Amino acid sequence: MSNKSEHKMDYDLLVIGAGTAGKSAALKAVSLGAHSAIVEENGFAGTCLGKGCVPKKILVSTVELYWRTKHAGQLGLTRVESLGIDWATITAWKDQMVESFSSDTKSLLERQGIKVFQGAPKFTGKNKLTIGDRIITAEKFVIATGSIPARPTIEGIEWAITSEEFIDLKSFPKRMVVIGGGLIAMEFGFCLARAGVKVAILQRGSVVIPHTDDEIRDALIEIGREAGMEFHTNVSVNRISKDRTVEANVNGTVENFPSDLVLVATGRPPNVANLNLGEAGVELEQGGVKVNEYLQSTSAPHVYAAGDVLGKPQHTPVAWYEGPIAAQNALNGNEHKVDLSLLPTVAYTIPALGQVGLTEADARKRGYKVAVKRLPFAMSPAVVTNDTEGLVKIVYDEETEKLLGVHILGARAEDIIQIAAVAMRGGLTLKDIGTMHHAFPTISEVFFWACADIPPDPMLGLVVLSQRA
Ligand SMILES: Cc1cc2nc3c(=O)[nH]c(=O)nc-3n(C[C@H](O)[C@H](O)[C@H](O)COP(=O)(O)OP(=O)(O)OC[C@H]3O[C@@H](n4cnc5c(N)ncnc54)[C@H](O)[C@@H]3O)c2cc1C
Repeated sequence: MSNKSEHKMDYDLLVIGAGTAGKSAALKAVSLGAHSAIVEENGFAGTCLGKGCVPKKILVSTVELYWRTKHAGQLGLTRVESLGIDWATITAWKDQMVESFSSDTKSLLERQGIKVFQGAPKFTGKNKLTIGDRIITAEKFVIATGSIPARPTIEGIEWAITSEEFIDLKSFPKRMVVIGGGLIAMEFGFCLARAGVKVAILQRGSVVIPHTDDEIRDALIEIGREAGMEFHTNVSVNRISKDRTVEANVNGTVENFPSDLVLVATGRPPNVANLNLGEAGVELEQGGVKVNEYLQSTSAPHVYAAGDVLGKPQHTPVAWYEGPIAAQNALNGNEHKVDLSLLPTVAYTIPALGQVGLTEADARKRGYKVAVKRLPFAMSPAVVTNDTEGLVKIVYDEETEKLLGVHILGARAEDIIQIAAVAMRGGLTLKDIGTMHHAFPTISEVFFWACADIPPDPMLGLVVLSQRA
């Protein structure tokens, strides 16, 4: 690590952006004894706590509770037909939670010994930047400025909102058109569809949520259609009218999609504007900072980057994992490489979709001798709580019986997928998992049952076997 007085730099490490990646980088740097600072242009919540995962999860989980309760008449709950949603109260609750998560962040960073600057930094030299009138120098930098919602150049785009405005809505519409078919589009689409809104998803590509196992995607779309959603692919949007009608070319035919709210969710490009990165010699790739496997800029060795600013994959655990790697490599030399091979991810659709490892198609492309096991939730202990939608799909190597990918669509998929990730990290085989003890009756058993030859519970197992026969 550098010595401040020797090198006449203000800081050993300066982190730009105090979102998930920036905070974790700065915290790692001080834990390594580095003289560190962080610069944040906006608030200290970052996307995850302020505009992304946390507010989204609050909205989705509340709607899920509503939808489950609404359909619980057959379980003995009464007056469920008159159940309603007060969206303004949900968003007020969300605001309260977000505020409590984010308010302490700045002082937490300061208490840890990190110098915190608020403002818009601009590189004015290789090791130098300005924040307003102030000039700051540092030996090393971590760029962690995240990403921003894309606003494609479509006529009438001003009549559409992005996810950032969606989470602050005070009421919800009767009809919503979503331009885009990725994670955020599907999550907000399912959220409002389960609240009773008519939702149309307009996706430019040939499939929604690419990078998802085909069979699982089909099952999710089927569930969405049953919930009243429309899915249109190969769509090119022509214009959005003031009355929120979206005119689009769908497979060569012009169609109009009337709506009350248009959500545009067409990706999140890295946020590097205004940093003047060229002054530091930083090269970009597809709009993000171009780095090697150590998260080091390929053109400016004293600059590292972490999180959404690198492009994809854009998930909070990735940002939280990459920040410390970037800081550590910047301060102590390139020792730590990034490995995202066993990253569990979740789409918070209703029900949720959790995935880890390879899809069946990717596993085949990679030359594995692929075998597959599947189990519908309706043939597992999830029936006890009436959670019958969805399925588990296990992709495994036929020779070694090691798991290559696990795909779970159904209740609590967001939690069950963590068990699958642990099993894969530990290199467990199908037999190891299928013969393991587990508590009964639980929804997560669906994963163990899917791996087992004979469903492990005597009573329900017999039901499954009789249905398989
Ligand atoms: C609607 C939505 C839902 C999501 N849901 C999930 C989910 O369920 N699970 C999940 O894992 N991920 C989810 N994500 C993705 C996740 O939020 C991001 O991957 C993660 O927050 C990225 O962290 P980051 O630190 O790279 O960027 P950010 O958190 O965006 O932090 C970047 C910070 O840099 C600051 N900044 C920007 N420019 C400058 C500048 N020039 N100078 C100084 N500071 C600057 C910004 O103000 C910000 O505070 C979601 C995202 C969205 C939008």
